[in-house]
Amino acid sequence: ILEVQNLQKKFGQHEVLRDINLTVTKGEVLSIIGRSGSGKSTLLRGLNLLEPPTSGTILFHGENVLADGFNLTQYRAKVGMVFQSFNLFNNLTVLENVVVPQVTVLKRDKAEAKAKAIAVLKQLGMDPFVNAKPAQLSGGQKQRVAIARSVAMDPEVLLFDEPTSALDPEMVDDVLNAMTDLAKTGLTMIVVTHEMQFARDVSDTVLFMNEGVVAEQGTPEQIFGDPQQAVTQDFLKRYL
Ligand code: ATP
Ligand code: MG
Repeated sequence: ILEVQNLQKKFGQHEVLRDINLTVTKGEVLSIIGRSGSGKSTLLRGLNLLEPPTSGTILFHGENVLADGFNLTQYRAKVGMVFQSFNLFNNLTVLENVVVPQVTVLKRDKAEAKAKAIAVLKQLGMDPFVNAKPAQLSGGQKQRVAIARSVAMDPEVLLFDEPTSALDPEMVDDVLNAMTDLAKTGLTMIVVTHEMQFARDVSDTVLFMNEGVVAEQGTPEQIFGDPQQAVTQDFLKRYL
């Protein structure tokens, strides 16, 4: 569904991503782990073109999204993103937060968008809060609304950038459980995370990034059970 070839990103002279290659197939859950500063967020922002790469190729269903004339608006609707900091509209209710992007971006009619929003909020256990404002919610609840908002757009791929790292510890499991349920629905997910248990239990593939390159990738069993690279071993030691 998504294939990245020789992706490179420079900020001035600073080469943050160097020759990244990866492939994600439909229904796959790919976790990206690695040290702070290794380029994980830059890679995700590159994938949904929030920050276009300096060079390389991103193929979506075989089509190069970096080519001139490619329909970026449509692409961004199909490749959703969930941020660490939720980015909800604080002046809107929970329901409106999930309805509005469907209406403005997908041009869904209001009734259909509302029905979809309610269904997705229910799936994420947030239906009792439809009329609440974000300020009345806990961090974990806000993040589940943010996830609902993305899921309601019917993305083909959903990117998560450390969705639990801004949360109090007692909220983390709620969000990880919601993400685990989503993975079971067959949604294709790319998840940058420091939650090694999640990466181990839920991913099909784990990718370890180090200094802007994919140092190692494999199944959770390979990466956590038998890492081949010294950098991967060093990194994982801190989590044992
Ligand atoms: P963390 O785990 O802390 O979130 P990360 O792996 O997501 O780290 P990135 O945020 O991708 O790392 O950053 C990788 C490198 O790119 C860092 O050295 C950072 O300073 C640099 N960088 C990121 N964004 C920019 C930018 N807009 N301008 C200049 N440098 C940047
Ligand atoms: Mg980051």
